[in-house]
Amino acid sequence: MIAVDISLQEYLQKFFGFDSFKGQQEAIINNVLQGKDTFVIMPTGGGKSLCYQLPALISEGTAIIVSPLIALMKNQVDALRSFSTKEQEGIAHFLNSSLTKAEIANVKKDIVEGKTKLLYVAPESLTKEDNIEFLTDIKISFFAIDEAHCISEWGHDFRPEYRRLRPIIEKIGTVPIIALTATATPKVQQDIQKNLGMAKAAVYKSSFNRPNLYYEVRPKQNVMKEIIKYVKSQHGKSGIIYCLSRKKVEELAETLQVNGIKALPYHAGLDAVTRANTQDKFLMEEIDVIVATIAFGMGIDKPDVRFVIHHDIPKSLEGYYQETGRAGRDGGEGNCVTFYSYDDIQKLEKFMKGKPVAEQEIGKQLLLETVSYAESSACRRKQLLHYFGETYKQDSCASCDNCLHPKQKVEGMDDVAMAIETVIEIKEKFKARHVVNVLMGTMTSAVKSYKHHELELFGKGVEDEKTEKYWNAVVRQAVISGFLSKDIENYGLLKASKEGKAFLDKPYSIMITKDHDYENMNGDDDDVITGGQKGGTGADETLFAMLKELCKQTSVKMKLPPYVIFQEVSLEEMAIQYPINMEELMHITGVGAGKAQKFGKPFVELIKKYVADNDIERPMDMVVKSVVNKSQLKVYLIQNIDRKLSLEDLADAKGLTLSDIISEIESIVSSGTRVNIGYYIDEVIDEEKQGEVYDYFKEAQTDSVAEAIKELGEDTYTEEEVRLMRIKFISEFGN
Ligand code: ADP
Ligand code: MG
Ligand code: ZN
Repeated sequence: MIAVDISLQEYLQKFFGFDSFKGQQEAIINNVLQGKDTFVIMPTGGGKSLCYQLPALISEGTAIIVSPLIALMKNQVDALRSFSTKEQEGIAHFLNSSLTKAEIANVKKDIVEGKTKLLYVAPESLTKEDNIEFLTDIKISFFAIDEAHCISEWGHDFRPEYRRLRPIIEKIGTVPIIALTATATPKVQQDIQKNLGMAKAAVYKSSFNRPNLYYEVRPKQNVMKEIIKYVKSQHGKSGIIYCLSRKKVEELAETLQVNGIKALPYHAGLDAVTRANTQDKFLMEEIDVIVATIAFGMGIDKPDVRFVIHHDIPKSLEGYYQETGRAGRDGGEGNCVTFYSYDDIQKLEKFMKGKPVAEQEIGKQLLLETVSYAESSACRRKQLLHYFGETYKQDSCASCDNCLHPKQKVEGMDDVAMAIETVIEIKEKFKARHVVNVLMGTMTSAVKSYKHHELELFGKGVEDEKTEKYWNAVVRQAVISGFLSKDIENYGLLKASKEGKAFLDKPYSIMITKDHDYENMNGDDDDVITGGQKGGTGADETLFAMLKELCKQTSVKMKLPPYVIFQEVSLEEMAIQYPINMEELMHITGVGAGKAQKFGKPFVELIKKYVADNDIERPMDMVVKSVVNKSQLKVYLIQNIDRKLSLEDLADAKGLTLSDIISEIESIVSSGTRVNIGYYIDEVIDEEKQGEVYDYFKEAQTDSVAEAIKELGEDTYTEEEVRLMRIKFISEFGN
């Protein structure tokens, strides 16, 4: 190591432009500079990178930084170069599979010439023989292992290549190691130190408490609607929503968009340019919400993210902590809301099935921790910190749902014992559902064929308040407490563990949580309430008549047919939902922003007065516009009509008939979106004919195509021509 002739503080200022060190940075850097092994556990955003970047810049030789993600490497190298002059560009490089041969040669040249202070490598590249050979010959200052939790199978992001680092480092030469991670349970911490052979390293562990974050878990019911409501309540603040699958990301982003929320999707299926643009828009606050898959959402770095929503439960608490950690990085407000359903847990368990048994075993355990966290009624902050080996001493954090709304607990000793007994009684060969059936005395074919109704325990669990739901919870809590184990390999058969048997021998008081009623909840989003499906039922007839009358008056005044103002389905829905402002009006099927602005004012005024005069209790729930599966086609059409492509070509491209395409456009237009197909009409219908049809629709009292053809003359106009003109007409006047 070279002598530090100016103070670290000055280097900090010189290289990074910062005035002071954050947290334990200075102590960590000093330790590295003294050539000692260092282990840093610091939450995301704590400033880990600087702990190896600064010493690398002022040490002799090149520091090797092992980092798992190519994208992260590139970001870091770009950031470092931004502090340097053109000649100094070689100061930081990365070596991974994305480079060409020529680029690799250039990197090596800079290293040999001593220009390069930091070399980022992916673990795969580090294990390559010729790279090892090359590195053996150069002067290395130290190794930094970023995201070191990847070493441990018990971490949430295990990478087998990470386990091979130590022997390679030894081959290359004995140099100090600094390992860094944002999450490490005591078990993971131990694994890392053992595997990297740095048991004696100085450990710098920051507290994991994020006092400014509020934690909440909600049942996953009507989740789309709940999310929309939540985001709207945040009034344009920045937020991230995590989903498990790309498909869900796309779907949710689109649903948010049609409900007037500025949101964009973000996942691995999008190209790098699109992703970068989305990030920029988020940073510049052109959009409020990023909907991301977990893998990719990690790169999103905005200090004032005010809420993080988990649409799906994370696979581990480490993941949960990292993802929620994106909120409130500036120390300001950060709300973390997770939607939980046991169905999701079962889905995740199913996904694991193809994996090696050992991996499944671990995955299962990590998942159980998450379940336990979600369902427990204890302080969430306390649970999280406990999980990371920290003790939170206060009784209440006053900033989680469980502290703000304490849940009821009941004595569960006898019931837990009964559940364990049942499992043993039925020879540990059945799943939770069957165990509950036996306890509840439910006669199923399985019960019959195994003669379980003859057991003494059959129906023993039936008591006033003890429903099937209750017993499901008891069984699950017995699993979470380790009394029962679930054999995923064997379709989730329940077995009694050693602890379970010990508990039976000597039962003790065990409080079980009166559940949040999470289980058996339909986790899917298909229960979104869509507008326009009410089919006339439930509408306020008096109001409906008044709205219809108003529509007619408006139509006379504006010299437009009434259906162009608002279609009947829209009026009907208004008479169900009672929208009293523009915002609410826009949620009515067939009413877009344009329509609302153009015609909406007298309508909401009428409804508002009507509601007040008649003391109407409006439905509290808003109507959420859904993007049904057809939406992909709709989006495709809207985009390509903008590009003025011929409708025939679009039909061909999608393997549909022109009539199908026209139907789809009709549905787009009738829901209030403006679509300009004039360019196409000009091509296929001559001007004079266009004028005639147009004039007809201006006068017509109905938008029926059959009527129109009858009036205009069957021989002169085809159905398609009339439909195209009707689209143009409605789009121009109505939307
Ligand atoms: P981590 O890797 O721990 O998640 P980073 O190294 O990415 O965190 O740093 C997070 C942010 O903190 C970065 O924007 C970085 O520039 C900033 N940062 C790091 N150290 C300091 C410091 N001493 N003063 C001000 N900002 C800092
Ligand atoms: Mg980092
Ligand atoms: Zn709490």
